[in-house]
Amino acid sequence: MKSTISVREVASALSLKYKDFAHGNKSDPLEEILFILCSVKTAEKGYQRTYKALKWAFPTRSALARASVDAIAEAIRGGGLSNNKARSIRIILNRAMDQFGSLTMAPLRRWPTAECEAFLTSLPGVGKKVARCVMMYSLGREVFPVDTHCWRIGRRLGWVRPTTKDGRPSPLDMDRLQAKIPLHLRFSLHVNMVSLGRELCTSGKPRCSECPIAHLCPRIGVSPKH
Ligand code: SF4
Repeated sequence: MKSTISVREVASALSLKYKDFAHGNKSDPLEEILFILCSVKTAEKGYQRTYKALKWAFPTRSALARASVDAIAEAIRGGGLSNNKARSIRIILNRAMDQFGSLTMAPLRRWPTAECEAFLTSLPGVGKKVARCVMMYSLGREVFPVDTHCWRIGRRLGWVRPTTKDGRPSPLDMDRLQAKIPLHLRFSLHVNMVSLGRELCTSGKPRCSECPIAHLCPRIGVSPKH
């Protein structure tokens, strides 16, 4: 199939250029949730700083679990939406205790993938994209998180069309795009599309003349709208 060939060629070209760099994501699932929560509505440099500030203020999970919502919010104030994020962190830690008897999400490693996703998306601040990031980076699952970069590039490459009026990916759109990516390419393609989206295929003005997949992109020479 033409689109499958395109996916494989894109994956191969991006892997050559970006070397599957994992962007600082965490191998521990609870840590990954905290890390991603810090990234919501925050630019990359900002969320790396916010996550470090959280770790500096509460070096251990038990210290974080003892902290008030206000204290957590104060620690992550630099990252935006700090009150919401702090409330989510508090609830997530409580859910971990209730579900697993300690401050961990590691038992999810033994859960079936569908159950992992259902549990993770039941947590506050965790939608399908975040759940799949946690599953891919920390639980070793062959899923494809559709973040803003993967969605923008997938659209420009003609792999997927949005079903929503505002052009943002619905959960259904995320499933449709994921279904186009062969299992063994999902990790590599995700991390490398994030690299491409940050460096060249930006939302404003993509630098197509430097793009390693320009020869595969139907939008080359066209001024992308999204
Ligand atoms: S050629 Fe341009 S629009 Fe296409 S993927 Fe590359 S940077 Fe994005």
